[in-house]
Amino acid sequence: MRGMETNGRIALVTGASRGIGAAIGAALAADGHRVAWAARDRIALERLVDAHGGLAVPMDVTDEASVQGGLDLVAAELGPVDVLVNNAGVAESAPLARVTDESWERTLAVNLTAPFRLTRAVVPGMVARGFGRVVFVASNAGLTGYRYTAAYCASKHGVVGLMRALAAELATTGVTVNAVCPGFVDTDMSAAAIARIQRATGRSAEAARGLLEDLNPQKRLIQPDEVAHAVRMLLGDAARGIHGQAIAVDGGQVMK
Ligand code: NAP
Repeated sequence: MRGMETNGRIALVTGASRGIGAAIGAALAADGHRVAWAARDRIALERLVDAHGGLAVPMDVTDEASVQGGLDLVAAELGPVDVLVNNAGVAESAPLARVTDESWERTLAVNLTAPFRLTRAVVPGMVARGFGRVVFVASNAGLTGYRYTAAYCASKHGVVGLMRALAAELATTGVTVNAVCPGFVDTDMSAAAIARIQRATGRSAEAARGLLEDLNPQKRLIQPDEVAHAVRMLLGDAARGIHGQAIAVDGGQVMK
C-alpha cells in the first residue's frame, strides 16, 4: 500500500510475547519493520523471532535496569528506535474497597509509568532524526469508566492523557503520537476476566464470555490482528497527519 513504506524501520514492541503485542509484532514484521520483541518470557520471544525475524528483547518494563539493558541491546543489535509501541499491560479487577495499594501500584507501574519511561528514553532520538512513531495500546477503559476497574481505568486514562500531552509537545518534530483503544480482545487477558466472572457469579465459561461479547455492539470479542491493523495504519509516512488521536477498536462500544 502506498504510504505504508517502512524502509526497514526499527520497531520496539512491548508486551510482544503473546496476545495483542505478538499480533502487532507479526504485522509490523510483515510490513518490513525490523521488530524488537520485548517482554519477560524469553522463550516465547525467541519463538516469535524464529517465525517473523527481528530481535528478542527480554525485559521487565517495571525494572529500570532491565529496561535500560533492553534498550542497549536494541541499540547495539538493530540501531535507534523509529517506532515504539507501548503495549505491555496488566488488568486486575475488584470493587474500590478491595483495591489494595499493591494492585494499584502494580497496575500503574506496568500500564502508565513504564510507557512514560520508555517514551522518554526513545523520543529525543526520534526528534533528532526528524521521524518517529509512538503508539500506546491503551483501552476503551481510557475513554470511559467501567465498574470494578479503578486502577486499570485510571492507568489507561493516564496513558491517553500522556499521549495527548506529548502530541501537543511534539507536533512540529516529525514524531507522531497516538493511542489505540481496544474493547475486550480475545487474549489471555480476557480469558482471565472470563474466569473471574465465572468465579464471582457461578456462570459457565460460555455465559461469562457472552457477557463480555455483549458489551461490544458487534456482539463479539475483537481479535488481536484487528488491533494490530490499527497500529500499522498509524506508522507509514502517509499517516503523518494522524496525531494526538485515541482510536477505539471496539465495535462502536465507545463513541466520542
Ligand atoms: P496479555 O495477553 O495478558 O499479554 C500481556 C503482555 O504484556 C504479555 O506479552 C506480557 O509479557 C506483557 N507484560 C506484562 N507485564 C509485563 C512486564 N512487567 N514487563 C514486560 N512485559 C510485561 O494481554 P493483551 O490482551 O495482549 O493486552 C495487551 C495490551 O492491550 C495491554 O496494555 C492491555 O491493557 C491492552 N488491552 C487489552 C484488552 C483485552 O481485552 N485483552 C482490551 C483493551 C486493552 P510477559 O508475561 O512475557 O512479560
